[in-house]
Amino acid sequence: MKKILIVEDELNMRMGLKDNLEFEGYQVDYAEDGQIGLEKIQVNNYDLVLLDVMLPKISGFDVCKKIRKEGINTPVILLTAKGEEIDKVRGLEIGADDYVTKPFSLRELLARIKALLRRTEKDTTSNEKKDDMQIGRIVVDFNTYTAFENGNSISFSHKEFEIISFLKKNINKTVSRDSLLKEIWGYDAHPTTRTVDNFILKLRQKIELDPNKPKIILTVHGIGYKMVGD
Ligand code: CA
Repeated sequence: MKKILIVEDELNMRMGLKDNLEFEGYQVDYAEDGQIGLEKIQVNNYDLVLLDVMLPKISGFDVCKKIRKEGINTPVILLTAKGEEIDKVRGLEIGADDYVTKPFSLRELLARIKALLRRTEKDTTSNEKKDDMQIGRIVVDFNTYTAFENGNSISFSHKEFEIISFLKKNINKTVSRDSLLKEIWGYDAHPTTRTVDNFILKLRQKIELDPNKPKIILTVHGIGYKMVGD
């Protein structure tokens, strides 16, 4: 399911868009000012962002500029107010992918959303590049081996990254301790299944909201572990 973020301060517009997009089968998240919008874009993997220009705290332009500067390529459609012709041009210059002018028809907006999603889908499949991975509240970048939670970096060891990666590859499937040992430690080392358990405990402390009640890496009794998610 495609995930769309709506950054819009007008309540009626925000909720109206949310209802309509959900009706169309999108998963919808929203933010009511530029600051919250920016933070959400930084930590979540949205397929598309609807970004109002006139926003409290940080303008839509600045949000767009900032995320592009940080190398975030999430497709952005700007929502500009009537008569902001200059802003449209500026919008595309600062890295927005498209814009619609308020008041717009829902049909037009949906058509633009679909077109942009199709465009970016093609791009990502041709590049075969997906180095960012979202696990719970955490975004893991396997290019730089860094992880972020709400913009704060979390440090993982190389082994921890490998474990996360392997579990994620087998998302929603049970992975036995033995296969983790074989995959992560190989034959040259002599760790025990207890080592695996200790690593999982440490990982849970980093990625689970409540490490004692894990929701991301579950224990499958007598077998091993399972990462759950989408
Ligand atoms: Ca506004």
